[in-house]
Amino acid sequence: MNNISNNDSRPPGSYSDGNLGEVLLSKEAIRTAVEALGKRISDDYAGSRCLTLICVLKGAVVFFSDLIREITVPVTIEFITAKSYGNSSVSAGEVQIVKDIDTDIKGRDVILIEDISDTARTLTSLISKLKKREPNSIKTAVLLDKPSRREVSFVPDYTCFQVGNEFIVGYGLDFAEKYRNLPDIATLIAY
Ligand code: 5GP
Ligand code: MG
Repeated sequence: MNNISNNDSRPPGSYSDGNLGEVLLSKEAIRTAVEALGKRISDDYAGSRCLTLICVLKGAVVFFSDLIREITVPVTIEFITAKSYGNSSVSAGEVQIVKDIDTDIKGRDVILIEDISDTARTLTSLISKLKKREPNSIKTAVLLDKPSRREVSFVPDYTCFQVGNEFIVGYGLDFAEKYRNLPDIATLIAY
């Protein structure tokens, strides 16, 4: 049953639809980076008894699921959904919370976990909204960072990879809700 063919130039799975370009980040490269990030966070928060990890749905869900299992300090997990209204199909203008977390974060150490920081409007807006709830600290961890696309000044506290301007999918990242289940991250060459 496990005879998924992979010629190493295309992601495995059922998406041989001609729209995927090269694999930008293999699942092995992602795993190595996520393990290292989990170790860094565990070291940085050693002794913290009140770390809350917030997954920004939906794109971060795969990264989040892998990352939390690499963290060795006690954590609680939460999920948030942000909706953006803007002039681009990809990125955010005005950002609104459409599904909020379930618990009070007052006094807690918080890390917001996101798939990719692009214009940075999503994360900067979520940080300012969540800061009003008086957490002890709030930081951000992103799998991918596209610093050249910033519309607002922002540097994530933790980043696994910096990428260029190409549109990428897989490992949680979608195009029109497709490709989230690819184990690798690939460029999308046809839209
Ligand atoms: P921003 O940082 O601009 O507020 O928005 C980040 C969001 O834009 C990400 O969570 C993701 O949904 C989307 N995004 C930005 N660049 C890409 C990309 O290359 N591929 C995919 N699939 N989504 C992207
Ligand atoms: Mg997103």
